[in-house]
This record gives sequence, C-alpha cells and structure tokens, in this order.
Amino acid sequence: MIAITLLGTGSPIPDPNRAGPATLIQTGEENYLVDAGRGVLMRLAAAGCGANMLNGVLITHLHSDHITDLNDVITSAWITSFAEQKPLQIVGPPGTKEVVDRLLHFLSFDIKYRIDHHEDLNEPPAVNVTEIESGIVELEGNARISTEPTDHRPVDPTIAFRFDYGNDAVVVAGDTIPCAGLDKLCTGAKGLVHTVIRKDIIENIPLQRLQDVCDYHSSVEEASQTAERAGIETLTLTHYVPAFPSGQEEEWREIAAQYFSGTIELGDDLHRVEIGE
Ligand SMILES: [Zn+2]
Ligand SMILES: [Zn+2]
Repeated sequence: MIAITLLGTGSPIPDPNRAGPATLIQTGEENYLVDAGRGVLMRLAAAGCGANMLNGVLITHLHSDHITDLNDVITSAWITSFAEQKPLQIVGPPGTKEVVDRLLHFLSFDIKYRIDHHEDLNEPPAVNVTEIESGIVELEGNARISTEPTDHRPVDPTIAFRFDYGNDAVVVAGDTIPCAGLDKLCTGAKGLVHTVIRKDIIENIPLQRLQDVCDYHSSVEEASQTAERAGIETLTLTHYVPAFPSGQEEEWREIAAQYFSGTIELGDDLHRVEIGE
C-alpha cells in the first residue's frame, strides 16, 4: 500500500486554510516529500512526520510556490538529527543544485550561530542533491522511484515522479499540461496526484497575469483525461486554482467524473488516500 497525504493544496496566493504545494508519499516506513511549499513542515508535523524522518525530498520544478520552505526543511532536518547526520537527499531538475547552494548561502549566518553555540554540532547541514530529467532516481529505500519530463514551459525543465512499491505505483505530477512524459510515467500506475486549475473560472477574470496561468497548467478536464488515458484507478487532485471553500469540492468532482471513470479524490490539507493493498 502506498499512502498519499496532501500536505498543501493551496495556490501561490496565501490562504489561511491551505498550505502551499507539497505531498507526502509513504511506502511502508519510508517517507518521501514531493515539493516544499509554504507551511510544509507544519503540515508534515500534523501527518506525524518530522524533517529528520524524510528519506528524500523530490522537487518537481523551481517555481517559488513549490520550494518556498525548502530552506526550513534543510535547517530542521539538520538541527533535529541528534545522532549521526545523514545527508538530506534532495532530487530535482537541473538547477536544483544551484538553488540549494544559494539557500545554504542564505542560511550561512544561522549555520554559523548554531555551530558556535552547540558543542555537538560541528558541521553545516549535510545535503546531497541529485539533478535528473528522466530515468531512475537513485535513492536508498524500499520504493523504486523514476522520473520523466513534464511540460510547464516556459518553466523548463520540470519533472514528475513515480513511486513503485510492491504491486502498487503512484505518480505525482507537478504543474504541467498534458504531455508524453507524464503519459509514459502513468502507464500501469494505480494512483495519480495532479495539480489542477479551473480554466473555466480563471479565463473569465479580466486580469492578464491570472489568465497567463491557464496556458501552462492542466485544467480539471485535462488532468482527468491524462488519468483516463493511462488507466489510473485513483486520481487525486491538488494545488487548486482557485481554491474551493472547504467541503465544497463536489462541482470539481463532477467535472472530473465527465472525463475519468475511476475514483476521484479532492479535499483539504492533510487529506489522505491509500493506494493498493
Ligand atoms: Zn509551477
Ligand atoms: Zn505551482
């Protein structure tokens, strides 16, 4: 069984009830974080997981809303590792290493304060970054993780991740329009977590900057068609633009159901979905 927890279902616009995009994937005892949006560690704590319990942090792309709290993950994993420091494993598209290097630079005053203050803290945060665009993600653990490119241009490169564990497989797509890379990753998977936008609503708001958002995201219809094409059993929608009030997801579910015949999951932060036996 693979457990999906929507840690943050919000859009880039701050929402008192929705954290920024982040999803927890649990395969047995292992915890994998996909993206690290606003408030990720608060929601991770609510899901019973600390930064020092993460087997990997997987970044779909370098848009700010998906990485705003990556620095918090790095610092918290570091200062809450009391025994031996295991490097925090971060995986993302090309550019991720530079972002993490700059975050460590941004944190350099804090890192020095803590090393100066704590006798048992001698080394800066141990972080290991892997950049990848396609293929197998070499991470220790019981899940087989793979990735393929997605299409969120001009944001490029962007990637989605697939977790295979036992007889089950779950794909977590970041922001993308329908594309061959995502189709390939989804083929034979049981679960898909997909970010979505209601283009029918956004297109009617007379603000060009908002309307621009439509051309590089999947609508509810498009995400549902991607899931249907691949034979996905359970489609979990997240990163709602615009956010729906808590408990009022039925309209979204009805739109998805016109294009997807499996189970449709939507909800608030911490909504949990189990895939497989
Ligand atoms: Zn994005
Ligand atoms: Zn986004």
